[in-house]
Amino acid sequence: MKKTKTAIITFSLIAIAFLAFQLISRLNLLDSVDGQFSGAPEALRFGIFQRFPELADWKRPEGPQRIALQAGHWKNSELPDEFKRLREQGGGASGGGRKEWEVNLAIAQETKEILEEEGFEVEILPATIPPSYWADVFVAIHADGSSDLATSGFKVASSWRDFTGKADGLVSLLEKVYAKSTDMNLDSNVTRNMRGYYAFSWWRYEHALHPMTTAVIIETGFLTNWRDRQMLINTPQKPARAIADTIVMFLTKERLAVRGNFEGG
Ligand SMILES: [Zn+2]
Repeated sequence: MKKTKTAIITFSLIAIAFLAFQLISRLNLLDSVDGQFSGAPEALRFGIFQRFPELADWKRPEGPQRIALQAGHWKNSELPDEFKRLREQGGGASGGGRKEWEVNLAIAQETKEILEEEGFEVEILPATIPPSYWADVFVAIHADGSSDLATSGFKVASSWRDFTGKADGLVSLLEKVYAKSTDMNLDSNVTRNMRGYYAFSWWRYEHALHPMTTAVIIETGFLTNWRDRQMLINTPQKPARAIADTIVMFLTKERLAVRGNFEGG
């Protein structure tokens, strides 16, 4: 009897230890991707080289910088079948008589205008990302909603699996510039949905970014909060200025900020 008990306890402890180890290594796996290819075995585990064999010696395509903004939820109903659930869920938050996509699109358009005035070409994408879409920098623009109308603030996140090694730097930069430009507080509650954003998830979806796209997602504020909403709806040029300035700073740092050398388009 005593032997059986000991055996059960021992077995349980081993099982718990095993599960804990699995959990820890999984978390590590998600968080330790440092964007360099020093972690090749890890990269292989993601199947990255199977899907993107050219990544083994990837080089940035020749040509001027590519800047992409995504207006979150815009044309949500046109999402392909791999995002059936997302498509059926509809278009995000709302507030002040506006749907989220309208607010996101207005900010994206303002951002594009500012950047174009400074000599940069910009592409605005809807909810659907072209397969393996590549850009030097990609910013997904969203606005938040909460049942607690007092909840306010913005937040920025990068992918769990950033292979460029540059996304975290872009997050910090955008946080700093955005707070200054909009006078908003940083909301520290970055969600799993942000870090696992579908557009980042090239290992899962066809219509997702190329792994060498430096990408972030910003929740620009809460549409359900009066003060945030005033700023987002009435002065979209404020968040837009912050996003545009951040992009220019990032490209300058990466020595990619070549102005006005694009043709047509
Ligand atoms: Zn959203």
